[in-house]
Amino acid sequence: MRPLIIFYILVVYVFLSFLWWSYLLLDSNKEIFKYKQELQQQSTSENYYESEDFLQLKTKYNKRIGMIVGEGAVFLVLLIIGFGMVHKSYRKEDFLNQQQKNFLLSITHELKSPLASIKLALETLKKPNLTAENKKVLLANSLEDVKRLDVLLENALLALRFEQKSYQYVNEKIDFSALLQNVLDKMKSVSTDNINIKSSIDTDIYFTGDRQAITSVITNLLENAVKYSFDNAKIFISLSQHDGKTIFSVADNGSGIPIKEKENIFKRFYRIGDESTRKVKGTGLGLYIVEQVVKNYNGKINLKDNDPNGSIFEIILPSRA
Ligand code: ADP
Repeated sequence: MRPLIIFYILVVYVFLSFLWWSYLLLDSNKEIFKYKQELQQQSTSENYYESEDFLQLKTKYNKRIGMIVGEGAVFLVLLIIGFGMVHKSYRKEDFLNQQQKNFLLSITHELKSPLASIKLALETLKKPNLTAENKKVLLANSLEDVKRLDVLLENALLALRFEQKSYQYVNEKIDFSALLQNVLDKMKSVSTDNINIKSSIDTDIYFTGDRQAITSVITNLLENAVKYSFDNAKIFISLSQHDGKTIFSVADNGSGIPIKEKENIFKRFYRIGDESTRKVKGTGLGLYIVEQVVKNYNGKINLKDNDPNGSIFEIILPSRA
């Protein structure tokens, strides 16, 4: 914040001194005009104000005023544009710094909790007299934690590759309907929350594209719908084809997204609210990945408000069967 305050002080100083120097220039121009006029008046006997000398002097005086005002205006406009650009880029940099700080905070948190529970499970497994059933539960939970870490790192890696434009999209014919059903079934089987997921998935919808990228789009949208929903979440998923387009949508009745945040949420690391006050886990990479993949296939994302509350994410992809 300190450099920004210094910058503002500098801007005010430059503007004030600019106005002061302009005023001084205009004033001295006026004084010169007055002195010259007096000098000429003394040496002219006839009606001075109708003389050629006076008219020439007056024209020169007006020209100078025009020049000072004109050049001053150009300088002022350039100054405003320059300061505006510096201010904008500072804000952008500041925003990115803040998001990166948030990301570091959230990723450490995200890594810490599964690691802590895996550590605890391993320590418990070392103990004698554990029943086979207990061992099974501990192993299953640890495996879930490892999978969570895997997904987390996969997302981070994917986002990094998109950012560096180094991700190599592989083309294969994907059964979109089966893939979606698969992700959905897996999600339902591990979910312990009270979530009501309904779906309308048209069969035999194919898409020629990158399996990992498309899976990531589906997973991120579904996970967000669950994460940002209330206790009795109702989620509706649909997949269909219309007019040569594949339409995949995820609707939830969760917290919804305020209008002013609708553009921001697709930015890298961006999470609504403050990291310290946020309770829901996340890194702010999910929707960035979704947008990158959809853009790559020349698709579109529509983000609508659900009725009475919640959000609807609609992905429209050109058919690539
Ligand atoms: P993450 O979920 O890891 O924070 P995302 O990029 O997936 O990151 O989402 C960015 C932000 O958008 C989230 O932090 C959340 O505030 C908001 N968001 C995403 N999906 C939803 C949703 N279905 N309902 C409400 N808010 C959402």
